[in-house]
Amino acid sequence: MSSCNEYSFSSHAPHIVGCPECGETVCATANNGEMADCPVCGKNLIRIEKNPYLLPFMYALTALAVLVPVSFGFFLSVHMPTVAERLTLPGMMHALLQQDYSFLANAMFVLTFATPLFFLLLLLYVLGAFIQNKNRPFLLPAARWLFRLKQWLMVDIFALSSIVALIKIKVYAEVEFGLSFYAVFIYAILLARIAQSITPHWLFSKAAELSNTQITHYHHNIFCHRCFFRQPENNAHCSICGTYILFRRTHSLILSTAFLIAAIICYIPANLLPMMITSDPTVRITSQIFDGVLTLWRNKDYLVAIIIFTASIAIPLLKIVAMIILLLSAKFRLPHKISAHQLSLLHRIVEFIGRWSMIDIFVTIILMAAFSTPIAKVEAGSATIYFTLVVVLTMLSAYFFDTKLLWQKEQKNHST
Ligand SMILES: [Zn+2]
Ligand SMILES: [Zn+2]
Repeated sequence: MSSCNEYSFSSHAPHIVGCPECGETVCATANNGEMADCPVCGKNLIRIEKNPYLLPFMYALTALAVLVPVSFGFFLSVHMPTVAERLTLPGMMHALLQQDYSFLANAMFVLTFATPLFFLLLLLYVLGAFIQNKNRPFLLPAARWLFRLKQWLMVDIFALSSIVALIKIKVYAEVEFGLSFYAVFIYAILLARIAQSITPHWLFSKAAELSNTQITHYHHNIFCHRCFFRQPENNAHCSICGTYILFRRTHSLILSTAFLIAAIICYIPANLLPMMITSDPTVRITSQIFDGVLTLWRNKDYLVAIIIFTASIAIPLLKIVAMIILLLSAKFRLPHKISAHQLSLLHRIVEFIGRWSMIDIFVTIILMAAFSTPIAKVEAGSATIYFTLVVVLTMLSAYFFDTKLLWQKEQKNHST
């Protein structure tokens, strides 16, 4: 490590970063169009686009332009023998509010509209400063919020949910897609591409440089797990990117376990209580998640049945089991013949798939908005609230889990 220096703003020479996954101190650098991975666990540490400022800036502008048809175009129209409904996305939220489902309306508004919009505006602000190479007020806090919001962008999930909802609606009524429906897909792809193009290490080093924030050099190896810079020993939050520092490992295990237990408790009512209540003037049918899947299967909607089963039953359960394995391994010892590397991969998978469990909630929301007349009505059952909580709580459990504990356990196993 003697040829490797601490980070300095004046050069892009290889510098010391801490791998957040295995805890190794790594010598890394990357130029535009390159990336650098951790040599021990393979985690990507630095990735810089060929055109790191202008390209995401243009994508963000395009996404804002696409947001106009997304918001104001018609999303879909539903024709039934007696009624026809033409829905826009704001109209759907309005319908939810009128039906007293303010929790669902708020969840939909925050995850699919407010968060991405705020994210795009912040991105333009931060990248604008980078392009001009000038400091701007609150540049570093803006960059911090950018990464906090990045994890909660759910437009891609909403887009997939709308396809599932459409297949379900087609059983009962004739549907027609509007401009907004297609625009949502373009919007989702643009957001995913933008999220991929902004990576924390280079973004925070640039924001710190422009805002004259010192990246201090310490003599111990405590690194931030988000921006990978060395951090003072007693800070609860990173001085560069502001994230919670996980080096107090006891906290990490306690927090992760607490959120997991809460998730397991919520998983029970999420499966037992009704998820969806469908009614017409003659019948009223309440269905749990599993009933819903069975009905779809009997109606030969195999693909939708598989998607809903995977997203709503299998994935939450697998996530809970995976988190139990990770927590037990970190607390006691690694399972026989399973390496820290494989367990870190499991953690990466849990983090990646977490958000996709929201599909069923969005499907219910879209169906409720599409069928809101007494002739054909879809209402959300109380399971939806518990189900949303399971998704959020398992995401938090995975977030607070510190994978470095696994690598430490593996070292201990080898040395004893
Ligand atoms: Zn590593
Ligand atoms: Zn940091």
